[in-house]
Amino acid sequence: MIVARKRFGQHFLHDQGIIRRIVQTVAPQPGEAVVEIGPGRGAITRPLLAACGKLDAVEIDRDLIALLRHANPPLEGLTVHEADVLRFDFRALAQARGVPLRVVGNLPYNISTPLIFHLLDQVDAIADMHFMLQREVVERMAAAPGGGDYGRLTVMLAAQVQVIPLFHIAPGSFTPPPRVDSAFVRLVPHAVAPFPMPDPALYARVVAAAFGQRRKTLRNTLKNLADEAQIRAVGLDPGLRPEQISPAEYAALAVHLRTEAGQ
Ligand code: SAM
Repeated sequence: MIVARKRFGQHFLHDQGIIRRIVQTVAPQPGEAVVEIGPGRGAITRPLLAACGKLDAVEIDRDLIALLRHANPPLEGLTVHEADVLRFDFRALAQARGVPLRVVGNLPYNISTPLIFHLLDQVDAIADMHFMLQREVVERMAAAPGGGDYGRLTVMLAAQVQVIPLFHIAPGSFTPPPRVDSAFVRLVPHAVAPFPMPDPALYARVVAAAFGQRRKTLRNTLKNLADEAQIRAVGLDPGLRPEQISPAEYAALAVHLRTEAGQ
């Protein structure tokens, strides 16, 4: 009997209706390179495998890895990578499989934000991503400027992926039930960049600084990166708050700062 480990964010899906819906939504096809993050006891692993014939999975828990490797009936076509997904090289896997990856996972909620940033660093190796996440995180990912959910996560994602919230899942669909509601979301890397971003690191610095102190105005939050004239030069009012600025406007400010620095 496998006991759910809190430190690995383990909440196992048991609701067959939700499992079916997830697999139908992902709709994996033979020949695609699908990789599951945190297969756990295999709740979605088995139907994913049935749909596409081959699957890579990244799991950290050795007891669960043993369970998957000795499953009965066997999980034929499954390659389990024993690894911490936060260090996993998705680019190398995409190269080995010869096609961009379709990434799927009922994610461990305790590492979901750093994990998404780790994946965004390798987004060129990814065709799309489907994740079960805390509902609140999905709301922050997909938020529109101006609201309380709009923040650093929204703006960082907008530069690289389209965020498509799909459906909600109640705690009772998992064992043990999490304390929060969950949501399933699709992230699709942009085929064409939505705005110019020649220096992604500078964009990230500007966004992190802007949202470092939410209640303050750009004039204050950006004071170590941009002066008032530089903020005004891209048509922004330095008296605005960070949540009032669109991703394209943050990108324009980063471009302007780069140009002024002569880079
Ligand atoms: N996919 C299964 C399901 O839906 O029932 C399990 C989902 S459970 C929420 C999260 C899974 O991620 C667990 O199997 C857990 O062991 C695994 N996990 C947690 N942290 C991990 C990490 N750093 N690297 C790889 N897997 C991890």
